[in-house]
Amino acid sequence: MNIEIEKLRKQLPEWVKSSVPHSSAGKVASYIPELAKASHDALGITLLNTKGEFASAGNFEMCFTMQSISKVYTLILALMDNGEDKVFSKVGMEPTGDNFNSMLKLELVRPGIPFNPFINAGAIMVSSLIHGSSQQEKSERILQFFKELANNNNLKHDEDVFHSELESGHLNRSIAYFLKGNGVLDGDVEEVLQIYFCHCSILVNCADLARMALVLACDGTDPLTGKELIPHRVVQIAKTFMTTCGMYNASGEFAIQVGLPAKSGVSGGILALVPGRYGIGVIGPSLNDKGNSQAGIELLEKISQEMKWSIF
Ligand code: GLN
Repeated sequence: MNIEIEKLRKQLPEWVKSSVPHSSAGKVASYIPELAKASHDALGITLLNTKGEFASAGNFEMCFTMQSISKVYTLILALMDNGEDKVFSKVGMEPTGDNFNSMLKLELVRPGIPFNPFINAGAIMVSSLIHGSSQQEKSERILQFFKELANNNNLKHDEDVFHSELESGHLNRSIAYFLKGNGVLDGDVEEVLQIYFCHCSILVNCADLARMALVLACDGTDPLTGKELIPHRVVQIAKTFMTTCGMYNASGEFAIQVGLPAKSGVSGGILALVPGRYGIGVIGPSLNDKGNSQAGIELLEKISQEMKWSIF
């Protein structure tokens, strides 16, 4: 067995244990009522290497919805469906320094064009670019793509979280209508929102995230099946956004403290990768004031610093 995986298996339980207390500093997301049911102190992680060897610890078997982590893969699918020119005529490439659901910069620079595909405005725009003849077909294509990437045919939507967000997503609804009003969002707004809420509500565990991240770590090819799932250039774009915008307005600090491409979600999930070597899935539902997992970041800082994994 790989020496590094052996070290990780030995150290992980201790690192998880010492990171859990940090969750008490944060809060579980409640603006989507269904998310508030998650356990405050849960923390789990799975790391998967290119040989298929795992290291897991804590509540790694817990299921949670992908939320904003899904934005990485809908961007990828939109790029594969439409090409770079079309996608980047609708969404920018720059970090905002604002909260994930901020509308502040939507009127700046190119009016109505979201700054990047990972803030909610940009991700809603990306959802509108997914090909398919109906809202159901588009959502089904996204789920099918995620199943392939996670190598897990059992992935499904969490209907309760989906409906909870559909009913309470007033801010996202106003963002989508704003984009429509500016003439930059095509199609029926409510249909686009359903596609967006649908992919945010896909249920995963840490192993699913680790496998999906491993495909990006290996430039688009699943090293365990040998299948090329994403073109190299598209992976390069996704990983760059993960580095510059993946943790929203905490991306700079995360780059300094952890130094790995990553993407967070409000359910407390974090997907990260070590290029060419590991896919990583983390869950820790208690969030800091930037909407990222409080204990999850603490844990990734420890691991990356101990293993000297920063890409910088
Ligand atoms: N579904 C969530 C929302 O739109 C995703 C946000 C997030 O995970 N940061 O608010």
